[in-house]
Amino acid sequence: SKTQVGFIGLGNMGNPMAKNLLKHGYPVIATDVFPESCKEVQELGAQIVDNPADVADKADRIITMLPSSPNVIDVYTGPNGILKKVKKGSLLIDSSTIDPNVSKEMAAAAEKMGAVFMDAPVSGGVGAASSGKLTFMVGGAEEEFTAAKELLSCMGVNVVYCGQVGTGQAAKICNNMLLAIGMIGTSETMNLGIRLGLDPKLLAKILNMSSGRCWSSDTYNPVPGVMEGVPSGNNYQGGFGTQLMAKDLGLAQNTATNTKTPAPLGSLAHQIYRMMCARGYANKDFSSVFQFLREEEGQ
Ligand code: NAD
Repeated sequence: SKTQVGFIGLGNMGNPMAKNLLKHGYPVIATDVFPESCKEVQELGAQIVDNPADVADKADRIITMLPSSPNVIDVYTGPNGILKKVKKGSLLIDSSTIDPNVSKEMAAAAEKMGAVFMDAPVSGGVGAASSGKLTFMVGGAEEEFTAAKELLSCMGVNVVYCGQVGTGQAAKICNNMLLAIGMIGTSETMNLGIRLGLDPKLLAKILNMSSGRCWSSDTYNPVPGVMEGVPSGNNYQGGFGTQLMAKDLGLAQNTATNTKTPAPLGSLAHQIYRMMCARGYANKDFSSVFQFLREEEGQ
């Protein structure tokens, strides 16, 4: 029978991901600092423990899905962190989107304890997490990829090996910079069309059969009422938080600065998402940039 898999961080993404591991017959042992987050997976049979060290004590394969770099550092190297009780030969997979340099540091710290760390951030959103259709971008030792893929395939359809540790994060950061630019572009385009008298559903339909089509227009439209089952139809609740997008754009700008790479639209997108965080949008889905633009024009 399958051995226990640890899961740390049961938020918007971690919750449905852990559920898919359970669905595939893996016993799950999980923890989250926010006890309420553990309820659903506990009801589905997951064992809940107090902290990451207790997860590492029981499971030799662990997935982490946390907000940002400081949380990952805490969960791996903190006083109750994974590395306090990690078993030799354990496989530690971090699916959070964080600074690639932090991934490298965690990999070095894990190696000292005889464990393997891989970065495997995801693309796809809560919908894809629920339906097991995420894309995983994996960095780390290539000989460990098959073992990682066995678990990640339960939660995603695309599991792509990117190279040494940190390269999964590099791919993810690039994707999200483009996603943010596309979401802002879609929002300002939809708003302009609406003000020119076009019905938003019709405009979305036309964009989606034309060259302006993108994921933000055809799968995650930011205008309330255009699509069902997306955060814009639910007052921008759930989904991918504006604060998390601002974090990813900051990571992209850091790497752009470090490599002297021009990224002017990524920089502007970063500033727009930071303004939104300062104006009460931090916990709304990132497609609320549409609402932000409408407020900017006094509507
Ligand atoms: P979230 O904030 O909903 O969930 C994170 C969870 O981690 C929370 O339940 C929180 O309580 C828990 N947590 C924080 N610190 C902890 C600690 N020290 N120990 C245990 N648990 C802790 O975030 P999310 O939307 O699930 O995103 C997780 C990661 O995935 C982020 O890095 C994000 O950028 C990335 N991501 C999110 C989406 C999305 O659509 N939401 C898509 C792709 C990637």
